[in-house]
Amino acid sequence: MNIPQTSFPRIVVIGGGFAGISLARKLAKHEVQVVLLDKHNYHTFQPLLYQVSTGGLEPDSIAYPIRKVIKNFPNFYFRLASVNHIQTDENLLHTNIGRLKYDHLVIATGSKTNYFGNKQVEANSMAMKTVPQSLNLRSLILENFEEALLTDDLNERNALMNFVIVGAGPTGVELAGALAEIKKGILPKDYPDLDTRQVQINLVQSGDRVLPTMSEKASKKAEQFLEKLGVNVWKNVRVTNYDGRLVTTNTDIEFKTATMVWAAGVKAADIPGIDVSCLADRSCRIKVDSFSRVEGYSNIYAIGDVAAMLNDTYKYGHPMVAQVAIQQGKALGENLIRMIKGQEMEPFVYKDKGSMATIGRNKAVVDMRKLRFGGVFAWFIWMFIHLFFLIGFRNRMVVFINWVYNYVRFDREARLIIRPYKQKSAR
Ligand SMILES: Cc1cc2nc3c(=O)[nH]c(=O)nc-3n(C[C@H](O)[C@H](O)[C@H](O)COP(=O)(O)OP(=O)(O)OC[C@H]3O[C@@H](n4cnc5c(N)ncnc54)[C@H](O)[C@@H]3O)c2cc1C
Repeated sequence: MNIPQTSFPRIVVIGGGFAGISLARKLAKHEVQVVLLDKHNYHTFQPLLYQVSTGGLEPDSIAYPIRKVIKNFPNFYFRLASVNHIQTDENLLHTNIGRLKYDHLVIATGSKTNYFGNKQVEANSMAMKTVPQSLNLRSLILENFEEALLTDDLNERNALMNFVIVGAGPTGVELAGALAEIKKGILPKDYPDLDTRQVQINLVQSGDRVLPTMSEKASKKAEQFLEKLGVNVWKNVRVTNYDGRLVTTNTDIEFKTATMVWAAGVKAADIPGIDVSCLADRSCRIKVDSFSRVEGYSNIYAIGDVAAMLNDTYKYGHPMVAQVAIQQGKALGENLIRMIKGQEMEPFVYKDKGSMATIGRNKAVVDMRKLRFGGVFAWFIWMFIHLFFLIGFRNRMVVFINWVYNYVRFDREARLIIRPYKQKSAR
């Protein structure tokens, strides 16, 4: 990999997501050599992926070059590499571009979509975990309308204009809200010769409320917002299969649709080589102690979505959200420096700053400690926080300008089929 040997300890970080980047920033300018590996050369701001899928933002504005993050950090090296295996007995990584030795290893690989073993759902549904997947979804949505315009077959037309989103967590709720706004504000103008009133947006949730990780108040408010926007919310309905045309559930309810978006679960993006007894059961997250050290290893750490730090407060590990990843990255950075200086490490304590979700224009819900509210003010807070955490001044400016423009013009101009999805799959 052409990484020079130095007298500094080598810390290899796998993953330039929220956790990996905040760790890297803490290690900058210390006497360590840091090698950051990621299969993408950019950091993705995942909370805004749904806006890319729905034409509200260009993908470039929510992605940021990893090399730019570390450009002023001495002794930092980035390699575009996919890590395939960790050989723990040799302190060695196997990647698609070669092998690399580490003194300390940090796994910050995040999570991937969990299909719970359902291969048909995996093959036929759309995921929204990465920028390319979001662009695929954007293309598919738009291609569906182009096709609906052409077909004389009413069933086919309805299936093309019927959207099913599985999972009513923040991702599902935000996507459903955005689609409902497109139906209301954009489709009638773009497709005047199509009866876009027939467009159906179905949000299917196996539990008894939307946004189950937020307060009851937030769930109720969010559901009201969704209903106001015309989204059909199906609670206590579990999707059992999807063959590319028909969604079946554990009830009598079925949906004929050309588009099912799977936002029903994630699991850790773990890498082979770590002892499987270190994996928490349901999520496959890597079990770590309060210093983020992987159980049973002295020089391997895991942070962010991939890690499960089980304790009395978080029996299944911390929530898989950006704040946890950022805070764990910072805390581990400080601890690694302490350790290298021969000082004691400090246990990680999560400071829960609350959670929020937006359902659409002027509609959001916020849970902040004891404060729980929804509406326009919550929506402004949601926007401000997302702008604040975006990486890069240009990205903040571009997103801000886009939002102002979209708000004033009731528009989403990035509704472009740049890389057709259907054509690609057919090939
Ligand atoms: C659609 C969506 C919406 C979300 N909305 C919110 C929200 O509103 N609020 C919130 O707090 N959280 C939200 N989240 C969750 C949040 O994005 C994650 O908790 C956060 O990204 C976790 O950070 P991380 O650093 O652990 O992983 P990630 O940010 O996922 O980064 C992991 C990195 O590792 C790299 N990688 C993975 N495997 C390998 C490998 N084998 N080799 C090399 N590189 C690898 C990936 O390319 C990636 O860059 C959302 C997530 C999604 C998908």
